[in-house]
Amino acid sequence: MTNFPIDKIRLDFPILQRKVNGKPLVYLDNAATSQTPKQVIDCIVEYYSLYNANIHRGVHTLSQEATDAYEAAREKIRVHFNAKHREEIIFTSGTTEGINLVAHGFSKRLKKGDEVIVSALEHHSNIVPWQMMCEETGAKLRVLPMLPNGELDMNAYADLVNANTKLVFVNHISNALGTINPIKQIIEKAKKVGAAVLIDGAQAAPHIKADVQDLDVDFYVVSAHKMCGPTGVGVLFGKKTWLEKLHPYQGGGEMIDQVSFEQTTYAGLPHKFEAGTPNICGGIAFGAAIDYMNTIGFEAIAQYEHDLLVKATQALFEIDGLKIYGTAKEKTSVISFNIEGIHPYDIGTIVDKLGIAVRTGHHCAKPIMDYYKIPGTVRASFAFYNTFEEVEALVQAVKKAKEMLS
Ligand code: PMP
Repeated sequence: MTNFPIDKIRLDFPILQRKVNGKPLVYLDNAATSQTPKQVIDCIVEYYSLYNANIHRGVHTLSQEATDAYEAAREKIRVHFNAKHREEIIFTSGTTEGINLVAHGFSKRLKKGDEVIVSALEHHSNIVPWQMMCEETGAKLRVLPMLPNGELDMNAYADLVNANTKLVFVNHISNALGTINPIKQIIEKAKKVGAAVLIDGAQAAPHIKADVQDLDVDFYVVSAHKMCGPTGVGVLFGKKTWLEKLHPYQGGGEMIDQVSFEQTTYAGLPHKFEAGTPNICGGIAFGAAIDYMNTIGFEAIAQYEHDLLVKATQALFEIDGLKIYGTAKEKTSVISFNIEGIHPYDIGTIVDKLGIAVRTGHHCAKPIMDYYKIPGTVRASFAFYNTFEEVEALVQAVKKAKEMLS
């Protein structure tokens, strides 16, 4: 892709100028967290320099400015994901909290005999909260299996869904393998038996602009820090009809209508699920991050990252003994690999000495590692601010690590 303004984009990210171990930083751990452009950093500095105040309950100017900015960010996020109502956008501390919030709500609704479906490709945060919910309710957790290429076994899915299925939870994109899952098909099938669907969009949000109305999804969860925003903030989209039915996740200030020692009534949406002082600056900066990514454009990002992925995959495949896990037809810019006879941690340590940040380990997706019977992988994950030269640097560093460790 020739006209992608990569040089200009890189200037937006101060961290990309730094050196690590005396070498220029090559940051390829974007699936764990993305880097932050100065537009978002400036937004954070401006908040704390000019209008830091608690929101929603102050009459003074600063509080009103902070409230307006926070609610404007909610609106930006609503528009980005094309939710119908602003009340459907719940600020959370991230994907993990969004999933726990929904699982908590369903722990008051499900019962023995009910079934829920989890995919084999999930991050632990889309497994463990549901196991807890199943323990509490007696509902049965059923697993939608994966295929050797890292795709979901959609034939098996057809057999799993039945009249007892109440809920299906699947990620949009696997953080460990990069597989883009056929969520539209998954949602359609679940709807036929009246089951609700939660999509973990943590990995998809930096690459794909999801349209929650078009998907007809019940819940979609994301973290800001995967999409150029700060850590500790995220969003749960939930259909209003569902959020009205679910029990609040946490009690506290902000989420109430009336409180007495005899009885408390809850606030309307979205406040019912937003107990306590939220990450105000984080929410506002999340809005700035969404603006930033939309200025570059998700179609241009997807095309550029696809080209990086193709180049990196081809070059890594040529290294003798290197195996890539996850070769799905539809995949984003994540490459999980191992070299025969070498522990992933050792590769990660050597490439770090060369300034290259990759992740090693199970990537919080132990069931995938168990499926391949491996302890973990080396994972290189690319963002739109990475370059083809950085891909080449990775390939050379992996070759060097192989030489040193063989
Ligand atoms: N799901 C997926 C697919 C992820 O990649 C991650 C983050 N690695 C999470 C959930 C959890 O996100 P967070 O830690 O921001 O809550």
